[in-house]
Amino acid sequence: MAKKPHGKKQYAIIGLGRFGSSVAKYLAEMGYEVLAVDDNAQRVQDVAHTVTHAVAADSTDEEAMSSLGIRNFDVVVVAIGQDIQASILTTLILKDLGVPYIIVKAQNELHGKVLNKIGADKVVFPERDMGLRVAHHLISPNILDHIELSTDYSIVEMRLPSQMVGKNLKQLDIRLKYNCNVLAVKRSGEMNITPSADEPLIRDDILVIVGKNEQLTKLEQAHAEL
Ligand code: ATP
Repeated sequence: MAKKPHGKKQYAIIGLGRFGSSVAKYLAEMGYEVLAVDDNAQRVQDVAHTVTHAVAADSTDEEAMSSLGIRNFDVVVVAIGQDIQASILTTLILKDLGVPYIIVKAQNELHGKVLNKIGADKVVFPERDMGLRVAHHLISPNILDHIELSTDYSIVEMRLPSQMVGKNLKQLDIRLKYNCNVLAVKRSGEMNITPSADEPLIRDDILVIVGKNEQLTKLEQAHAEL
């Protein structure tokens, strides 16, 4: 199992709750080889028809993981939430077996800290992040999407506020006023990555803007319309 046929990345997902099974299904739908593992046979059964291999196994059993050839996968996602001990033990075992990239879902900050300490390559907090996203959207309804580039910088997709309709990028001067850059303008689903500075913006345009978080917040707040 898990020889690399076409240079395409291979993924293993351990823990098939709502988060893990949705990662597994999406990757499989995108054509990637996916091994799905859970110690609950029913959960394995539920995804078996979507993924390449689905196996019932306890991920805290090092021998079982080794015999699955887990170290040959490029990325392993540990999506065990409630049982923090199992999540930590699994991550340690994967690390020991030499898995090149391990992503782990953390239940809380402390769990996240431990995972970082034992060598998880990426720790994700899906519930916390989705909560922040929803709250952010409530406060700034013009912000359609928000991608964190680092702790300080983000890219946002902002629906053109009504005060900006009819103005062009030169007049708005977002770069000077907010120290942010308009990377692209989305109009009728088409992305223009070289937007003209002179062309008037129209209702329903979407601006894709990169900047420092505090500057982006200033820009959002100056144009908030509830
Ligand atoms: P979600 O929010 O994604 O639905 P969750 O955070 O509530 O999930 P759990 O339901 O606790 O997480 O765990 C996810 C899955 O991980 C479950 O299907 C569970 O059977 C599986 N799991 C837990 N421990 C192990 C283990 N040691 N080996 C394999 N699978 C495990």
